[in-house]
Amino acid sequence: MIDPRPPIASLSAADLDAWLTEHGAPAFRRKQVWGWLARGATSFDAMRELPKPLRVAMEGDFRATSLRPIAVAQADDGLTTKTLFELDGGHSVEAVVMRYADRSTLCISTQAGCPIGCPFCATGKFPFGRNLKAYEIVEQAVDAQRVLAAEGRRLSHVVFMGMGEPMANYRAVVDSVRRLADPELLGISPRRIVVSTSGLIPRIEQLAEEKIPVTLAISLHAARDELRDVLVPINRKYPVRDLVDAAQAYGARSGRRVSYEWVMLAGVNDTERDAKELGALLKRKLAHVNLIPFNPVDDTPYHAPDRASIRAFKLMVEAQGLNVTVRDTRGREAEAACGQLHERVMRNSAAVS
Ligand code: SAH
Ligand code: SF4
Repeated sequence: MIDPRPPIASLSAADLDAWLTEHGAPAFRRKQVWGWLARGATSFDAMRELPKPLRVAMEGDFRATSLRPIAVAQADDGLTTKTLFELDGGHSVEAVVMRYADRSTLCISTQAGCPIGCPFCATGKFPFGRNLKAYEIVEQAVDAQRVLAAEGRRLSHVVFMGMGEPMANYRAVVDSVRRLADPELLGISPRRIVVSTSGLIPRIEQLAEEKIPVTLAISLHAARDELRDVLVPINRKYPVRDLVDAAQAYGARSGRRVSYEWVMLAGVNDTERDAKELGALLKRKLAHVNLIPFNPVDDTPYHAPDRASIRAFKLMVEAQGLNVTVRDTRGREAEAACGQLHERVMRNSAAVS
C-alpha cells in the first residue's frame, strides 16, 4: 500500500513555505530542512535544529523519501555502488554511484523502462513502465548524497544516463535539474550535469531555451540513417543530420561542447566506412566522441569488438580529425542498465569548462 503522505522532495519551495507558515514556523526553517536533506537525513527526527513539535508535525504530514532500496550491488572494489529502488506503485529503477579521486558521480534514472527500444539496450528490452516524477529523480540524488556524506565525500556530478530517455520525460527532468542545482538543496552546478538523449529534436531545442547549461550527450551509434534507424529507432522520426544540427545549436547556445556516444558493436558500426561517415558528420564541429565498448546484454545479436578492433576504430576516427576517447568500463560488474556509466563524458566536458 502506498504511504499517503507526500514525500518532502515533492514540495516546491513555495509549498514548503506555505506549510511552515501554517504551522507557525519561520521561513528560514525551509533552508534547514533542505540542508538536512542535502546532508542525508533519513528522518525528520534527525533534523536536530528543528523544534521537536515541528519535527513531529512534519513526520505526520510528509515522508522523508518515496524510494525504497530493494537491492544493492558493488563493483570495482566498492568504488561503484548500484542501488535498485522500488517506486510508489511497484516499478523499480537503478541509480549508480561512482567514486573517483577527484569527484563522485551519480548515474540517474528518469523512467522505469524506456519507450525508445534500442535493440542493444537492457532497459529498452522490458516493457515501458512509467515516467518518474521530478521528486523521484531528486530523491535518487539525495540518497546518493546520504551514502557519500557518510564516507566524507560529496556528490559532485550527475549524469542522466540511467534507465529511460530523459527527453521523453522532459518537464520532470528539467525540474529535477533545477532542484539539483538549487544551492539551498544539492547545489550541483549544471556544468557538472550531463543529459544524454537518443535524439528528440524538439526537446533539445526546448532545452536550449531553459538557460540551464547542462552538457548534452547524444547517443549517436551510427552516422547513416539506414543503420541508425535500426540501432536507435527514434531516428526514423528525427534523422541523424537534423539531430546533429540541433545538438550543435544547443552547444553554441549553452557554450558546452556536445558529446557524441558510440556504443561499439562488432561488425555493425566499427568499420572504416563508419569512421568515415562519422568524420563527414562531425568534422570541424565542436564535438567530442565517446566510444563505449558494448556491455553484453542477453538475447541481443550483438558483441563487443576485441581490444585491437576498438583501438583500430579509435585511430580511424582520429584520422578523421575528431576528438575521441574510449570510455572506461567502470561498473561493468554492477551489470548493465545503468552499466553504461558515463564518467568519461564528465571528464571531457570538465576539460573544456
Ligand atoms: N536514453 C538515453 C540515456 C540512457 S542510456 C540515451 O540513450 O542516451 C545511456 C547510454 O548508454 C546511451 O548512450 C546508450 O546508448 C548506452 N547504452 C545502452 N545500452 C548499452 C550497452 N549494453 N552497452 C553500452 N552502452 C549502452
Ligand atoms: Fe532507451 Fe537510451 Fe536504452 Fe535507447 S539506449 S532504449 S533510448 S535507455
